[in-house]
Amino acid sequence: MNVAAILKLKGREVFTTAPDTPLLDIARLLSEHRIGCIVIVGPDGKVIGIVSERDIVRELSRAGASVLKEPVEACMTKAVVSCRESDTIDRLMGEMTAHRFRHMPVVDRGRLVGLVSIGDVVRMRIAEAEMEAAAMRDYIATG
Ligand code: AMP
Repeated sequence: MNVAAILKLKGREVFTTAPDTPLLDIARLLSEHRIGCIVIVGPDGKVIGIVSERDIVRELSRAGASVLKEPVEACMTKAVVSCRESDTIDRLMGEMTAHRFRHMPVVDRGRLVGLVSIGDVVRMRIAEAEMEAAAMRDYIATG
C-alpha cells in the first residue's frame, strides 16, 4: 500500500494559507475544520512551511496570548518533510516516527497534491490487516 491509496480514500483537499495569516486565524481554521495542521504556501503555491496545533500551544506558553496577532510565518516549521504518492505507508510511518510529527504534505513535481496524517496511516493499516485476516479465513474455509 502506498500514499496514492490513502489519497484515493480520503481525497486531495489540503487546507492552506499564506505566511502573513495571524496565528488566531490559524487556530480558528484548525478548530473549524477539525484538523491538526495547516500547510503554508507562497504566492506561487509552493509549500514554504507547516504549522500544527503544537506550534500554537508552544508559542502561547512562551509568549502569552498576544502572540495570536503575530503572523504564522514567525512560528511555522520551515524545513517541511514531504512525501510522494509512490511512497509506501511503511516509509511514512518511519519518517513520522523518526521526526516525531503527525502530518506529511504530498508533493508532486513541486505541487501540493494532498496531506497524510498519522490517523490516515493507522486507518489504512487496520484496513490492510482486516483484508489479510479475511483472505486467510477464506483460504482456511475453502481448504
Ligand atoms: P504534529 O505532530 O504534526 O502536530 O507536529 C509537531 C511539530 O512538527 C510541529 O512543530 C510541526 O510544525 C512540525 N511538523 C509537522 N509536520 C511536519 C512535516 N511534514 N515536516 C516538518 N515539520 C513538521
